[in-house]
Amino acid sequence: MGHAFASAWSPDGKTWRQTQSGKKGAEGQMEYQLPPGSASASGRVLVAWGPPYSPAKAEEWVRQTGSEHRMAEEMELCRSREGRRVPMLRISEGDRVPERRFGVWVHARQHAWESGSSWVCQGFVEWVMSADVGAAWLRQNAEIYVVPVMDVDNAATGNGGKDALPQDHNRDWSEKPNWNEVAAAQKILKGLAAEGRLDVFLDLHNPAPGDLKAFFYAPALELLQPEAKAFKRIS
Ligand SMILES: [Zn+2]
Repeated sequence: MGHAFASAWSPDGKTWRQTQSGKKGAEGQMEYQLPPGSASASGRVLVAWGPPYSPAKAEEWVRQTGSEHRMAEEMELCRSREGRRVPMLRISEGDRVPERRFGVWVHARQHAWESGSSWVCQGFVEWVMSADVGAAWLRQNAEIYVVPVMDVDNAATGNGGKDALPQDHNRDWSEKPNWNEVAAAQKILKGLAAEGRLDVFLDLHNPAPGDLKAFFYAPALELLQPEAKAFKRIS
């Protein structure tokens, strides 16, 4: 996370810290050094690519955010194919009717192993809830849907999810989606589109190793409203 080739470690699975950069060894090995006394009383230490972001953590965070902020509502997008809850937040402040709000959709973890995307998703919501003037404008003028973990089943069981069969979540956006999360998201998104207010669709992923530059896809120019066109820069 941020620091190239560092890994995360924790004595208890709650508090996480980062190592210094690892040293590349032969045959694809990496060597990480932990400070003395890093292990818990039981002698255990957990090492991970980054601080984990499990479906249980997503559920706890969504519940907490919904109970602490009047403008945030805890919802359930759907149940997964394996029967797990897929938590979702709906954020909207003030009494402007939904039909007159921009539609904003943000989700993460269509690929279960890309846990960094859930942290970014949570960070976005923390900003939306903040005292920042732009954030206040957004939550007063938009209806914001947030799903921190789309592929809850693979995230819960520790699978990668990428290239899952018959196709992974990211490739499931067809007329007949296989995954409940994609079908449920499409239903809400189609509703927003029918009302002419599907304004932002943000699909968060992790970069691959060696990707040093962030990249993103934006809609084709002819699909944009005049107001959005004015903001588009083509370099
Ligand atoms: Zn991905």
